[in-house]
Amino acid sequence: MEIAEPVLDWYGEHARDLPWRRRGTSAWAVLVSEMMLQQTPVARVLPAYEAWLERWPAPAGLAAEPAGEAVRMWGRLGYPRRALRLHEAAVTITERHRGVVPADVAELLALPGVGAYTARAVAAFAYGRRHPVVDTNVRRVVARAVQGQGDAGPPATARDLAAVEALLPVEPARAARFGVAVMELGALVCTARAPRCGLCPVRDRCRWRAAGSPPYDGPVRPVQTFAGTDRQVRGLLMAVLRAADGPVEAPALAAVWADGTQRGRALDGLVADGLVDPLPDGRFALPGSVAPAAQLTHPHG
Ligand code: SF4
Repeated sequence: MEIAEPVLDWYGEHARDLPWRRRGTSAWAVLVSEMMLQQTPVARVLPAYEAWLERWPAPAGLAAEPAGEAVRMWGRLGYPRRALRLHEAAVTITERHRGVVPADVAELLALPGVGAYTARAVAAFAYGRRHPVVDTNVRRVVARAVQGQGDAGPPATARDLAAVEALLPVEPARAARFGVAVMELGALVCTARAPRCGLCPVRDRCRWRAAGSPPYDGPVRPVQTFAGTDRQVRGLLMAVLRAADGPVEAPALAAVWADGTQRGRALDGLVADGLVDPLPDGRFALPGSVAPAAQLTHPHG
């Protein structure tokens, strides 16, 4: 089924002006934006993206700093392991690719934190290559318009990539633009809860709509909760560490969550993930922010 033409026309008129889509955006900036957007909404990513690129306009600048600075700059974007992975990716790009983000999907996939989605997003959006770029929004549009289902169900990478590949225009630059266009359609019009079919450029050929928009009855993804979870406690602990100029005493961390068992579990998880360094003197620091020698000679040690 052909949906590229109307979706591209619609995108030309209705696309949001987002900084990472502007002409001349570096591949590094596209990679940063994609890592941030993986699990965080656009509105929260915008200021963090600008600040990040102002401080580290190229991977080498980030690679030269401790990983803890990446975690600090990550701020409240959530899932801060992404900051560590982005730092590791910057080191790899600097050491193995002379500071230039690779354009090849296989090389991109070899970078820390870069999965099937991000590798193809960078290759397509930064370098204009022809690859299917599949995120939740794209999967939903394809499930509805092409497959006639109300929801895409759980992801299946190979099948999802093939379904989107079949829709791509032949010409690489056009295919890359279609990738971002169909994503935008899913974000703005074909939304999960209330698709605005009256505004949709493919409403005349959408199979789900033609079938009367039947409710989805296939397998569903588990819903994630937040309040009261270890993830919430991890966020509170990280906020204390980010706000401090140096290492933090244990009582400062204890103050953010009363349940010591859950707090301990969350802190252990952060240490295991490499997001927090436990120091020999019992304090805690962002990773790499305190040199090993300084840890041993600290007056409180
Ligand atoms: S017609 Fe409605 S359901 Fe179909 S693709 Fe457009 S917005 Fe989605």
